[in-house]
Amino acid sequence: MANLLWLQGGACSGNTMSFLNAEEPSACDLVTDFGINILWHPSLGVELGTNLQQLLKDCVSGKIKLDIFVFEGTVVKAPNGTGAWNRFAGRAMKDWVSDLSKVADFVVAIGDCATWGGIPAMAPNPSESDGLQFLKRNHGGFLGKEFKGKAGLPVINIPGCPAHPDWVTQILVAVATGRAGDLSLDEFQRPKTFFQSFTQTGCTRNMHFAYKVSTTQFGQRNGCLFYDLGCRGPMTHSPCNRILWNRQSSKTRAGMPCLGCTEPEFPFHDLAPGTVFKTQTVMGMPKEMPKGVEPLAYVKYSGAAKLAAPKWAEEDMFVV
Ligand code: SF4
Ligand code: SF4
Repeated sequence: MANLLWLQGGACSGNTMSFLNAEEPSACDLVTDFGINILWHPSLGVELGTNLQQLLKDCVSGKIKLDIFVFEGTVVKAPNGTGAWNRFAGRAMKDWVSDLSKVADFVVAIGDCATWGGIPAMAPNPSESDGLQFLKRNHGGFLGKEFKGKAGLPVINIPGCPAHPDWVTQILVAVATGRAGDLSLDEFQRPKTFFQSFTQTGCTRNMHFAYKVSTTQFGQRNGCLFYDLGCRGPMTHSPCNRILWNRQSSKTRAGMPCLGCTEPEFPFHDLAPGTVFKTQTVMGMPKEMPKGVEPLAYVKYSGAAKLAAPKWAEEDMFVV
């Protein structure tokens, strides 16, 4: 039996909603089939007031063994580093995070806010929000660069705004069933099993990308969203087009550009207002190339590809 405690800092509860909607496995399966004992969760916990406070104190003291500490949301440090803007169970949440992380075997950050600050940590960051072990791309975060859980791993980061339900429950199962050692983490401590490939992998618009057939409208069923609508699929690590949302679809399949929500910079607030859904260009070239593509090769290739685009690439591929 693995004891799991889930707390929430500066967040919108989106990752909790995602977790509660998980299907493979579901939140119930974690308890009934995978030996996870949920000590407390903001939507599932039954303890309140002093009972909850005592539970947390017992985890900190070691009276209750804490196997997995899950954190959703940012660590709020305002005002002036006190954390008083986010008090929980009688003290600043940041102090619980600090104490609980020291005693947990594994610490898992769920969603962009917990992994690297997400939306709350956007400049000017009035809540002095921090991610657990990163602030945007900067390694360190609230717990510091050197932090490792008692089992020897750094914070396991499962980003996303929100994270896909399967990413959450499948990683929790791996950790709870003693397979955490099989998790290979990338430079941002994301499990490679979910975050090695690009969002573009499996996108149904790949042929339109290759032939440089663009769409300028949301929801249109043909045309790639990269050239005019700012799709970040070729620069973002996620399996959104391999592990579909609701087992049905993905943003790009539905005609909505990927916003890059699994990358530390999300939500890319350095863009000028009103330009999120617009591909940033410099002299007609995308300002940011798909990962691994040489600008000169891109110019040659994309010009030729557009000229060579077959008629079917312009057609609505879903007409029956
Ligand atoms: S819509 Fe986005 S993810 Fe799909 S092929 Fe175009 S750039 Fe890639
Ligand atoms: S398609 Fe992009 S923005 Fe949408 S959930 Fe996946 S990674 Fe995030």
